[in-house]
Amino acid sequence: MIPEGVKLFLDVMVFAFGAAVGSFLNVCIYRMPREKSIITPPSHCGSCKNPIAWFDNIPLLSWLLLRGRCRHCGAPFSFRYWLVELLTAILFLLAWLQFGPSPTASDEGLLRAGDLLPSWHVPIVWLLLGGLIVATFVDLDHYIIPDEISVGGVVVGFVLSCAYPALHGEEFFLLGAWKSLLGILIGSALVLWLALFGELIFKKEAMGFGDVKFLGMIGAFIGWQGALFTLVASSFLGAIVGVLWIALSRERQAVGREASSNDAYYALDSWDLRDEMDTHAMRSSIPYGPFLAAGAIVWIFASRQVLDFCSVLFGLNQ
Ligand SMILES: [Zn+2]
Repeated sequence: MIPEGVKLFLDVMVFAFGAAVGSFLNVCIYRMPREKSIITPPSHCGSCKNPIAWFDNIPLLSWLLLRGRCRHCGAPFSFRYWLVELLTAILFLLAWLQFGPSPTASDEGLLRAGDLLPSWHVPIVWLLLGGLIVATFVDLDHYIIPDEISVGGVVVGFVLSCAYPALHGEEFFLLGAWKSLLGILIGSALVLWLALFGELIFKKEAMGFGDVKFLGMIGAFIGWQGALFTLVASSFLGAIVGVLWIALSRERQAVGREASSNDAYYALDSWDLRDEMDTHAMRSSIPYGPFLAAGAIVWIFASRQVLDFCSVLFGLNQ
């Protein structure tokens, strides 16, 4: 048994670690699509170019303490930076609670070092979650998913499936490799077919090749069943949000026509980074990557419930 106090301490540490990783993901989200190094230069204010000191760069806390502004010039930092840190921290903690060391790992009530060591499952899920978060926000901003995430993720997911076949519930490395390969091939093929089908129906490009590579990457980690679920869940979610989006953008266009200046129109878009506003205002379609990421996250945390639900739905119990 892990004592309650130690368990709570570890949970807090994992949450803080997740927030710190989220801070790094913010850097990736901003720099990757701009083909800039994610290592150098260190964080600096985009407005006055002053470097951000470590005490102003504490995940979650600094944004609140400085009220989302640069200490030197007072330029606003997007609320989204804070949100990505919080989202990463929460997902990392959930992965830790679900896949981390179980409280009943050892018998005699003694704390052993082995109880505190998570299996490889946790860091691999963290890695996948990080990739999903970066892809989501880059896709929202630029309508692309960086190849570093999608193609890189296919390679990393495959290698990790060989090294740690338990990720796919297997013990032998070849079976892990096989399930990962099936996930990659079936995942990409499914999106490719859906994209062709969508083009046939809507007479315009419904999905990009980035989404094909992205679901391949997801399949590399969670196998073909996971990829299939991700696609089905994401298209339901996408359909719901799409309908809302169209309704809202009609309303926004009406507001935009009524307003005499552009300011009121842009004010509605304050969620987005300032330099992305112009491209956003002109777009009417919505990126598909975030829906794929959301579907994959549901599978990561609730695959058993999903499978139970499917077996009840299709009467596969007996
Ligand atoms: Zn500044």
